Amino acid sequence: MARYLPLLDKIDADVARARKLPGYVGCPPNCHDCCHVASILPIGVVEIEPMLDALESFPKSLRDDVLTRATVSVSYLKSRGFDADTIMRDPNGAPASSLFNRLEAPCPFLIGGVCSVYDQRPLICRAWGVPLHNGNNNVTCCPKTFTEKTTPIADAVPYLDYWRKARVLSGSLEKEDKEPMAFLLLRKWRERRASRS
Ligand code: SF4
Ligand code: SF4
Repeated sequence: MARYLPLLDKIDADVARARKLPGYVGCPPNCHDCCHVASILPIGVVEIEPMLDALESFPKSLRDDVLTRATVSVSYLKSRGFDADTIMRDPNGAPASSLFNRLEAPCPFLIGGVCSVYDQRPLICRAWGVPLHNGNNNVTCCPKTFTEKTTPIADAVPYLDYWRKARVLSGSLEKEDKEPMAFLLLRKWRERRASRS
């Protein structure tokens, strides 16, 4: 974890730089659309650990709320035949479609329209909203936050570089592969509790 937290500082600084690019208008007030199908947002082990630390510090009612949301999402997805592996093979296809407009879709950490783990949120949550370079010839960005249609690759946040570093750190903790947010949250939470009992 000692190498992950500086990575968060670096991506935050890079995102702050990108917010000064021409055409940045920021997120509309009260928009949290990118959190709305995030119960299956793929994240890594190194990313969930600080979020679990935060969860442990929550008042019990809030902690139970987050865990219940994750449990409801996982139960629903399993009832539709999706487990963590099948979701990871097709995160934006049938699993995402099955969640459309359902209460099981939002990130379990989204409470009352606010990210309850804002300071500990994963890399993609920190970077989404500014132009990102994912290693191909394209720059991707939330369509709501920029009036400029294109951003040069050199100006975009090199998201793939950040993700590769996080993947290595996840591998040093357990495994490199990502896992859907709600599944990973519950699995690692159970492991923490079991290690202390
Ligand atoms: S961790 Fe926070 S920012 Fe990321 S999807 Fe969940 S609520 Fe949204
Ligand atoms: S990044 Fe886009 S979808 Fe997410 S809160 Fe900002 S405007 Fe909304």
